Amino acid sequence: MLNSRNIRNDFPIFDRLVHGDKRLVYLDSAASSQKPQSVLDVMDDLYQKHYANIHRGIHALAEESTALYEAARKKISDFVHVPDPAQMIFTRNTTESINLVAYAWGRKFLKAGDHILLTRMEHHSNLVPWYMLAEEKDVKIDFAELDEQGLLDLEHFQKQLGHQPKLVAFTHMSNVLGVINPVKKMTEMAHQSGATVLIDGAQSVPHLPVDIQDIGADFYAFSAHKMCGPTGAGILYGSKKLLNEMDPFLGGGDMIRKVTYDGFQPNDLPYKFEAGTPAIAEAIGFGAAIDYLHGIGMEAIHSHECHITKYAYAALSEIAGLTILGPGAEKRGGVISFTLKDVHPHDVAQILDSQGIAVRAGHHCAMPLHQKLDIPASTRASFYLYNDEADIDALVLGIDKVKRIFG
Ligand code: PLP
Repeated sequence: MLNSRNIRNDFPIFDRLVHGDKRLVYLDSAASSQKPQSVLDVMDDLYQKHYANIHRGIHALAEESTALYEAARKKISDFVHVPDPAQMIFTRNTTESINLVAYAWGRKFLKAGDHILLTRMEHHSNLVPWYMLAEEKDVKIDFAELDEQGLLDLEHFQKQLGHQPKLVAFTHMSNVLGVINPVKKMTEMAHQSGATVLIDGAQSVPHLPVDIQDIGADFYAFSAHKMCGPTGAGILYGSKKLLNEMDPFLGGGDMIRKVTYDGFQPNDLPYKFEAGTPAIAEAIGFGAAIDYLHGIGMEAIHSHECHITKYAYAALSEIAGLTILGPGAEKRGGVISFTLKDVHPHDVAQILDSQGIAVRAGHHCAMPLHQKLDIPASTRASFYLYNDEADIDALVLGIDKVKRIFG
């Protein structure tokens, strides 16, 4: 078991109080996680001692910055078991990674009448880029249904593969239902039907050990800010074959090998997809976040979150009028969304906030899923390595107060 109290000492934000004298109970890591001191220090150190633009200068600082940037890429690729860092494209976030694929792969390889298969539990990031593409290219979008527990209906997924989709894109873990999808099996099924597979790993890489090679996906996307790293840095993993076949996403400096007045030749991977000056400090901070998580161990983090989730699920299930969305505790990661009878989620979140408890209220960028569940919104508590039972007890007491206020 992790000692979350000790872990909180690594995160300076937990030194502060909120609303005067309230301890910060941070249950919103699915939206964005807090940052340990080590990540802040590495970024500070870069700016104070090594900073210059990368890949261009022939001077000491440029070489040091470049070495730190490329070392971060290597750490991130090792973390998710990708042998060649050239397959790891730095982007701004998961959203940009998915848009990159929709733009540079989708626009080149999809044509009118082709199908894309998604699931009913996708975040807007893994819906809207495909809707935009579908509109432009007259591509058809299909959805795999969920069963009554909120788990993906694998039989229906198989049935939808009968449309022979060119692309199958799905989340590794739902940011609303907490469901962890059987991604390796789904990838194998999709590959058997001849599809290219993209996985949205925004909620999985921060919380579970992930081996992208073992899963076998063609594309895999995730964000630094949900895994103790800074905002502004994300990753798109791609198979070498597909990345080489794709045209560049953005044009400009760094993504070229040669430019003349007649045209250009694109650079090698991964630079072909990294036009312009990137988020240098953020990428290096991402590397420091990987060091931090690796130091604690992803198995330990995952099992701690399973424990906290079971504890929270049991406690919340006892509350009259509270309905948890999605399956039982043993089938989910550290996310619990719920509704409270006759109280709007915004009111729940506001009253919790007044007690120092940060949760998310709304549709969590999954409006269609909420429509499917026939609710306008929900309240979401999400857990990370720095949460413990005391945080869950505070949440339960907080909900008690909400119920008292609303009679
Ligand atoms: N996919 C899922 C499942 C998410 O939970 C999120 C963020 O909440 C995203 C994608 C988008 O991540 P980002 O905002 O970092 O691009």
